[in-house]
Amino acid sequence: MAEIHLKNLAHSYSANPAGVDDYAIREMNHVWEQGGAYALLGPSGCGKSTLLNIISGLLSPSEGQVLFDSKVVNDLTPEKRNIAQVFQFPVVYDTMTVFDNLAFPLRNQGMAEAKIALKVQEIAEVLDLQPLLKKKASNLTADEKQKVSMGRGLVRDDVSAILFDEPLTVIDPHLKWKLRRKLKQIHEQFNITMVYVTHDQLEASTFADKIAVMYGGAIVQFGTPRELFERPKHTFVGYFIGSPGMNLIEVQPHAGGVGFGDVYVPLSEALQQKIASTPWKTLKIGIRPEFVHVWDGRYDDALCAEVVYVEDLGTYKIITLRLADQTLKVRLQEDKPVPQGQAWISFPSQWLMVYADDYLLEVSP
Ligand code: ADP
Ligand code: MG
Repeated sequence: MAEIHLKNLAHSYSANPAGVDDYAIREMNHVWEQGGAYALLGPSGCGKSTLLNIISGLLSPSEGQVLFDSKVVNDLTPEKRNIAQVFQFPVVYDTMTVFDNLAFPLRNQGMAEAKIALKVQEIAEVLDLQPLLKKKASNLTADEKQKVSMGRGLVRDDVSAILFDEPLTVIDPHLKWKLRRKLKQIHEQFNITMVYVTHDQLEASTFADKIAVMYGGAIVQFGTPRELFERPKHTFVGYFIGSPGMNLIEVQPHAGGVGFGDVYVPLSEALQQKIASTPWKTLKIGIRPEFVHVWDGRYDDALCAEVVYVEDLGTYKIITLRLADQTLKVRLQEDKPVPQGQAWISFPSQWLMVYADDYLLEVSP
């Protein structure tokens, strides 16, 4: 088991990278602590698999270091790093039985057969594979094969870390939930560092204590699901997490705050100073649909928006508003009156974020 430290790490698949755009991983420093359950969340192509393969040793980074418990492992093979990796598509030996597939990593270590039998039984039980132990892997369904593949990753409890690269892609939706629970259980039982790659925010937040959100080859925020929801440090986190995502509106500085069209939004003195002292090309405000305050009726200090569309989703409604040529989504609980034609709204300062070139401007409260 290990703490994994990525130090000034960067990777380009090109032999002569000309600029940052040629990097699949932009220079980063990051620590995965020993025993943590982590998710690496981001859209397709943002560099998740590249980063995972660098950690496991399948890929050698073009710059920087990978350290396990303060020891540089750049030159060690995946076997020497003692990492288990589970991939998107099952990796099983078709000609072997399920039992032999699960026993394979243990036999490689030279473990005694009696102990192997116990270990295989234990992991087969967790994954509901006991009825299949004697079957040839070639006769399994895609779901079952992936469970065997996961079992091979999980059967050893002496590994430094287990890395999962979108392992539930080929799994049936109803089984997905069950397997996620199992992974969590296994994590709690063995306290192994786990990094789980996914592009699904729900999958990430049900598995992980902490999520690293990746975008364009960089980890733009590392935090608990709640931190990502309440204080997105990058507009991408605001947009990607939540359903629908954060409202983001480009604004210009204005006396006492910021503005867009004929709308004026006041900001604290501290934020105004921060905007003035930070170099930026684009300035945006961000507020989550859950945090927009809707007044029950006309309210003079509020902004007046036009109601475009109301979508009833049972326990809540999503209202689409127009405000000075901008579209805004608002989430309204079912017990709240639905505004007709016009809505009087405000942006509570606690939930109103300001982004300079997409990064959150932070001021002490
Ligand atoms: P993800 O797993 O998040 O979908 P990847 O790590 O697979 O992303 O890819 C990150 C970027 O690197 C993408 O732009 C992809 O096209 C590129 N890439 C991935 N693998 C290779 C490769 N073997 N050679 C060249 N470019 C690659
Ligand atoms: Mg990938």
